[in-house]
This record gives sequence, structure tokens and C-alpha cells, in this order.
Amino acid sequence: MDHLSVSPARLPQPRIARRTAVKAVPLNLVFFGPPGAGKGTQADLFAARHHIPKISTGDILRKAIQDGTRIGAMVRETLQSGALVGDDLVISIVAERLEQPDTAKGFVLDGFPRTIPQAAALDAILADRGGVSVIALVVHADEVIRRLGRRGREDDEAYVIKERLEVYSRETEPVLQYYRRRGVVTVLDGNRPLDEVTEAIEAALKRAKG
Ligand code: ADP
Repeated sequence: MDHLSVSPARLPQPRIARRTAVKAVPLNLVFFGPPGAGKGTQADLFAARHHIPKISTGDILRKAIQDGTRIGAMVRETLQSGALVGDDLVISIVAERLEQPDTAKGFVLDGFPRTIPQAAALDAILADRGGVSVIALVVHADEVIRRLGRRGREDDEAYVIKERLEVYSRETEPVLQYYRRRGVVTVLDGNRPLDEVTEAIEAALKRAKG
């Protein structure tokens, strides 16, 4: 008898396939840390490796400025000063982006949420999508300043860096507490070389998945 005449549906399903199917929860991640922690770089690498999109509010806002859009004109001075763009605007940008079908299997958020209202809005958006896991990169203040000084982006001048670090501890660090209370945070040492941090992120997620 031709073996092709056996209906595949009648064959016992391999165990491994069933297990994978059960575990297919979306990889909804927030990369968290002060400016210069390396979260943007790690988010890029992670997203490429896992075939999910990276969503960086900083990148989206800088592109809007570059493209000369209405939103770009609205936020240009804010970015130059190191202050935060208004919650309503960034929340609507992220909400719209997360409606795109490429986010269904997961995504990496970089630079969002940065305030408690942003975190609450993200919760509402993801209410029926499995919530988020947070990878927080901790870096010494002097290392942050050294890295940002090397990077040379337009908002990396010394006095703007100072403002961004102040905004981070005032507005953004409380977001970490918000997630910590929920037990969804993995804190990693971001002072180490890039590929060691990459390995640590992968190891942490494997542990989290069990
Ligand atoms: P970094 O991580 O180096 O601080 P980002 O690229 O994440 O840089 O952000 C650059 C700037 O874009 C911020 O200083 C802020 O003005 C604006 N921005 C980015 N994300 C947000 C956000 N979630 N809420 C408010 N402002 C934001």
C-alpha cells in the first residue's frame, strides 16, 4: 500500500508538537533601563533573533522629526531638551503600532512605558494578550555617561544627558516598581560586555519559560 494514502490526521501526533503548541504564548517584552543602558541595542538583537518587531518610541519620534511630519514638528523641541513627550501622544503611537498583525506573536518595547500612566495604558491594551515580561538592565551612572558621550546623538550633549537621567529617576524608575510588585521583572547587570548581556537575557527568558 502506498504510505501516502494514510491520512496524516490519523497518525498519533508527536508529543513535541503538542507541547510547542501549548507553550505558544506571545513573547511580549519590555526592555527597561536608563538612557545608555544598552536596551536599544539589546532590543534590536533580540527582536531579530526571535523574528518579532522591536518598537522603539524614541526611534519612531526621531523618524517623525526627520520626515517632517506634523507629530515630528510637535515633539522636536521636547526631544532636544531631554524632557518627555506627552503621555497621550506616545500612548496613541504605541496603541496604533500594537494593532499591526506582526505583533501577534510578540514584540520588544524599547523606551516605553516611561511613566505610570503609560504603563497603565499598556496594561489596558494588552489585557487580553497575555501582559508583558520586563527585562531591566542596571548600569552604573558613570558607565551610562561614558556610553552616551561616545554615542553622539543630537540629544547626547552633557546638559541634555543630565536632564534625561533626572527624568529617568523621577518619572521612569517608578514604572519598575509598578512591574516588580507584579513579579514580572528580571533585573540583569548591563555593565558587562554586549554579548554577555545578550546571553544573560536569553538565559533569563529560558528560565522564565520553565
Ligand atoms: P534613551 O533611551 O537614550 O533615553 P530614547 O530613544 O528612548 O532614548 O528616547 C529619546 C527621547 O524621545 C526621550 O528623551 C523623550 O524625549 C522621547 N521619548 C521616547 N520615548 C518616550 C516615551 N515613552 N514617553 C515620552 N517621551 C519619550
